[in-house]
Amino acid sequence: MSILSKPHFHDEAAAFEFLEAALWPEGPVCPHCGGKDRISKIKPNPEKRVRVGLYKCGPCAKQFTVKVGTVFEHARIPLHKMLQAVHLMCSSKKGISSHQLHRILEVQYKTAWFVEHRIREAMRDGQLAPMGGAGGIVEADETFIGRASGKPKKRAYHHKIKVLSLIDRETKQARSMVVDDLKPSTIPPILRENMSREARLPTDEAGHYLHVGKEFADHGIVRHGQEEYVVGEVHTNTLEGYFSIFKRGMKGVYQHCSKAHLHRYLAEFDFRYNHRIALGVDHVSRTRNALLGIKGKRLTYQTTGRL
Ligand SMILES: [Zn+2]
Repeated sequence: MSILSKPHFHDEAAAFEFLEAALWPEGPVCPHCGGKDRISKIKPNPEKRVRVGLYKCGPCAKQFTVKVGTVFEHARIPLHKMLQAVHLMCSSKKGISSHQLHRILEVQYKTAWFVEHRIREAMRDGQLAPMGGAGGIVEADETFIGRASGKPKKRAYHHKIKVLSLIDRETKQARSMVVDDLKPSTIPPILRENMSREARLPTDEAGHYLHVGKEFADHGIVRHGQEEYVVGEVHTNTLEGYFSIFKRGMKGVYQHCSKAHLHRYLAEFDFRYNHRIALGVDHVSRTRNALLGIKGKRLTYQTTGRL
């Protein structure tokens, strides 16, 4: 039996029960006043336009569903289709395009596009704790993708969008961000913000790592320009592996992405990488982890800069 045949992917009431179980493990919580007592379920009644999943709070008398205050709140598709979308994005290694999603869910392309961005927002990790504490190794490297501005030049990357990624080799977690440039004034503050001073830092010989590297417990350099890739523990091969999944996904599945939206795609690739099977996270728990991320984040048409 395919996992997609589960009731919560097809039946709206089952979908609400599924999401409630994930977000309210101890019972419903009023998003308006935080109350947990005297909350009553309102029986759905399509004739009187009473929606599925509606509750009324005793203390503040307001109504709510489990979607209030989450990135799903104003989504224009039924919750069971939203759950299908989350499952599909969590279980496909390189992601799933809005075109595919539009066909599978039988919703408009624009709706599918927006649904995907909501889910990416849920996948965005609010983790700010510095990586590589207790002397761990944090690889840092950058990659280039798409086109940021200007005409493409041969063997140059100035026109491309620049991405900086860090991987903590102990916890096997990735953190990626879009950067405007690779100047020595841009990269060091990001490393200082995201890495513990006790961390050991392997990088290539790029100039923007040279000075800031001295601020960490150790800075090992491999000279990629001289085809030197591994010197003992000093290498950026874990990141190379990550970049290859990211690039294959971006080229094969998403194809076009503007600089304004790339950080959301990075959140998606970081999420799948950080919740991958090799770390003991299966498809079902990955979907659950993504659902836990819908709380406390909102995404509106304005903040996506499109539509
Ligand atoms: Zn209340």
